[in-house]
Amino acid sequence: MALDLVTTLSDLISLPSVNPMGRDLKGPEFLEYRVTEYLEAFFRQLGVDYVRQTVEPQRDNIIARIDGRVPPDAGGQVLLFEAHQDTVPVDGMTIPPWTPLVRDGRIYGRGSCDIKGGMTAMLGAFARLAAERPDGMPTLIMACTVNEEHGYTGATALTELWTTSAWKALAGFIPRVPDAGVIAEPTRLNVVVAHKGTVRWRAQTRGKAVHSSQPHLGDNAIYKMARLLAALEAYQRDAAPRLPQHSLCGQVTLSVGTIRGGISVNTVPDRCTIEIDRRILPGETRASAYRHVIDFVANYPGIDFEIQHDAPFLEGEPLADGANAAVANRLGAISRELSGQGERIGVPFGTDAAQIAASGVPSVVFGPGSIDQAHTADEWLPLDELELASEALYRLGRDGL
Ligand SMILES: [Zn+2]
Repeated sequence: MALDLVTTLSDLISLPSVNPMGRDLKGPEFLEYRVTEYLEAFFRQLGVDYVRQTVEPQRDNIIARIDGRVPPDAGGQVLLFEAHQDTVPVDGMTIPPWTPLVRDGRIYGRGSCDIKGGMTAMLGAFARLAAERPDGMPTLIMACTVNEEHGYTGATALTELWTTSAWKALAGFIPRVPDAGVIAEPTRLNVVVAHKGTVRWRAQTRGKAVHSSQPHLGDNAIYKMARLLAALEAYQRDAAPRLPQHSLCGQVTLSVGTIRGGISVNTVPDRCTIEIDRRILPGETRASAYRHVIDFVANYPGIDFEIQHDAPFLEGEPLADGANAAVANRLGAISRELSGQGERIGVPFGTDAAQIAASGVPSVVFGPGSIDQAHTADEWLPLDELELASEALYRLGRDGL
């Protein structure tokens, strides 16, 4: 079956699957179940085997499989395609998020670029291969996972299918640890072989609340936070550039994203809390990165007070290049031939690829569109890249590594 990619992508955009991003938000646009139902009907129509893996209520991974002509236990390869079903929220968008619009070679809508476009490219390749089942094709797994945008829990559950025996009802669906994985994210048809990871945590300063008419009797937690912020700014400005760099991912970064403190203007605040985002490089560990920041600020001039650093609330592994060379070279060569892109690159953002690579599957990130259009107010995808990405994935799925 040759899929009409624009129709499929339009269908997916028109089904909201907004990630609540850890907030307690309810509403018809949240969670992935509408997309999962669409994908279930899609796989059923193809006549392939598929399973659902319930990660949370209304949040199921859906995983489909085409068996290669050579069984995995007789030396056949196993290849994994993975794309996430969720999108970021739509606050502030300047276009209708769920009414796909095709204009001037682009398709607009939430998820068009990140990552329903990449998912569609994979579904197009998968549908062709399901119909053709050419000689020599690997066993191909297509996994559509939940909750990439806030904690990678769908991808983590997926990897448990080969790292644990926890999912008894799904045992054997993935015949063995895949030989390689391609994870959909917008890369402009380049091949991401390395990316940064993240560790995020809250830090708090404490003081003593008194009436603001007598501030000398109190202890202002916001003033202390101002000194901590100066230390963190110095970390990004002075310390991070001196740490070892990664050839494809560049340098370590640190950013403070939120701040909360005080209850009223006439009260000296007794606490102030910030959220810190520290990007980590392949080769660093999350624990060592967290500790490095804490030690730096503790020793910074003017920090003569206690800082409470909470345990990280969100972490993501970095993706290291090296183990993924075979799939990177193969997919890079195909993409180069088709599009002139296909360069091996590193990026600063995190993806499911790191969780999947950590489970023993050499993985790269690949897809149509640019990260510059992901999560934006007028998110869009170039349609020519959608077609090219699908063709590249088809050739990889047809011939294997
Ligand atoms: Zn994404």
